[in-house]
Amino acid sequence: MQGKRGLIMGLANERSLAWGIAQQLAGAGAELAFSYQGEALAKRVRPLAQQLGSDFLFDCDVSDMAALDRAFETLKERWETIDFVVHAIGFSDKNELRGAYYDTSLDNFLMTMNISVYSFTAIAQRAQAMMPNGGSLVTLTYYGSEKVVPHYNVMGVAKAALDMSVKYLAMDLGPRNIRVNAISAGPIRTLAASGIGDFRYILKWNELNAPLRRNVTIEDVGGAGLYLCSDLASGVTGEIHHVDAGYNVIGMKAEDAPDI
Ligand code: NAD
Repeated sequence: MQGKRGLIMGLANERSLAWGIAQQLAGAGAELAFSYQGEALAKRVRPLAQQLGSDFLFDCDVSDMAALDRAFETLKERWETIDFVVHAIGFSDKNELRGAYYDTSLDNFLMTMNISVYSFTAIAQRAQAMMPNGGSLVTLTYYGSEKVVPHYNVMGVAKAALDMSVKYLAMDLGPRNIRVNAISAGPIRTLAASGIGDFRYILKWNELNAPLRRNVTIEDVGGAGLYLCSDLASGVTGEIHHVDAGYNVIGMKAEDAPDI
């Protein structure tokens, strides 16, 4: 990744999936900029960015289109072009990430879609203008977009829309060699995940039933992030790449499945 530059959006702390990806990218020689949500997060994000040799960070609430415009203007002031953007952002009212999906309110439905889905398209709009020689856009999704996972509710509906956005964007931007992919990560304990009802049960279930018999780490996710941002994935676009210890391939675990 020597000579490549990109923006990491959605770093909150050292548990964030964005941190796993940023570490791998920086380790491979990429130069990174970071955007965070609200000045309160700056004091957490700045030392992490510094650890990876970056002093280039700025505030950007992705639900605010003017803030997104400003963020990309700031990026362009320092860097004429970029090679990749990692979008590791999702949000919903945690009171609606439990109970029945039909109780989702219109306000929260729209907010969840805006922050967790539309933002990726809005970012693609702005990022593509800075990628004259091609590039890579990566977002984060979850299995709850494909199958019903208890409590995931409106977030599952949003992730389904995000997965489909990846495919439409891949088609739009493919002729310009801009690749668009998602990593479908298995459950990992993060700030965002703590809002999901009974998340510990989801973690345990995944660990017991996934082919690898474990949960994934942010390092696992980071490796896939590096691959998708790099030229190693030059022929890959529109892909929902599972990094979930294989959980998504299981229809039903055999009662006598060997543990070793
Ligand atoms: P996290 O809490 O570390 O990151 C979520 C980030 O979203 C935070 O940095 C937060 O500031 C940001 N964000 C929320 N609203 C925003 C807004 N309006 N503007 C800008 N930023 C905003 O949690 P995470 O688990 O690392 O989440 C990153 C992504 O990974 C999310 O899309 C999440 O759905 C996805 N994901 C997480 C898991 C998991 O189990 N943790 C699994 C699969 C996918």
